[in-house]
Amino acid sequence: MSDNWSVVGWQGVSLRAPSDWNLVAVSGEENKGYFRVDSPSSSAVEVRWEAAKQAPDLDAKADIFLDALGKTARKKRISFSSRVKSRKPTPAEEKYGGDSVGFTWKSDRSAYGRMLYCGYCKRLVVGQVVSEPKQDLSGLSAAILGSICEHADPGWNTWGLYDLQVPVPESLGLKRHSLMSSFVELEFAGRGERLLVQRWGLAANTLLKKTSFADWLANSYLRGIEGYRVVAASVEDPHEALAFEGRRSLLKFLLSTISRLRGKSMPRSVTGRAWYCEDSNRIYAVRHYHRGDSGLDPVLRDKIKCH
Ligand SMILES: [Zn+2]
Ligand SMILES: [Zn+2]
Repeated sequence: MSDNWSVVGWQGVSLRAPSDWNLVAVSGEENKGYFRVDSPSSSAVEVRWEAAKQAPDLDAKADIFLDALGKTARKKRISFSSRVKSRKPTPAEEKYGGDSVGFTWKSDRSAYGRMLYCGYCKRLVVGQVVSEPKQDLSGLSAAILGSICEHADPGWNTWGLYDLQVPVPESLGLKRHSLMSSFVELEFAGRGERLLVQRWGLAANTLLKKTSFADWLANSYLRGIEGYRVVAASVEDPHEALAFEGRRSLLKFLLSTISRLRGKSMPRSVTGRAWYCEDSNRIYAVRHYHRGDSGLDPVLRDKIKCH
């Protein structure tokens, strides 16, 4: 069932869903947050998380969650029924510990859900697939819900959205994001380092209409790396690709006071990769600012599957 599924992930909470289901909302942070993924019809999966040092009583938590939904429904004079059931441990629960219970509810919408305490990321997570009562999404829901918090690549968080899956070291936290189908940008920061991942959609139709990829990189992309003396060279890759590296330049460093005043740290070095994927008609770029040896950008290049 899940061959063509994609990973949707935010702040280290991820799941697998059919690839035509799309991330439509994100909010919050690592300690408390939410995302929603919509199907092309009227179903959706919603996920909420909250940091918890210890495993709570999941049955009790599920009851509280369902009672609140029931109260809201009754206020609107809509019928509401629900059930909590035990669940078999997932492979991730067997590996990392943690536990979960399943639940269902029926009202003007119906849902299959899973409330879990993740032994890996130490969070209480509630996921539910909500649909029209007539739709039978039991099999699909079980597969989606069972994939929450798989943590398949320990040490890395998968940030997954709009057909883009970027594994990022857990030590780097999200600082800024811009999510559009034509342009996705994720900026992360950790101690003395900063990582910028960008993807341009519709590359050939718009960005590369009147210019080659190499020229676009030189004129539009590399020039945006302010405060560094950057050199770039093409690199072996299945795609037209370029690797670049730069050292902080004193003159440029002084000239870029403005960006320092904006609160951006300027580590000694920057390294990165950019490539044009003709198959998906998208441009990808990974830029890592760091103090010494990085090695992160070639690893990310390998981990990011572009088509
Ligand atoms: Zn987890
Ligand atoms: Zn590609």
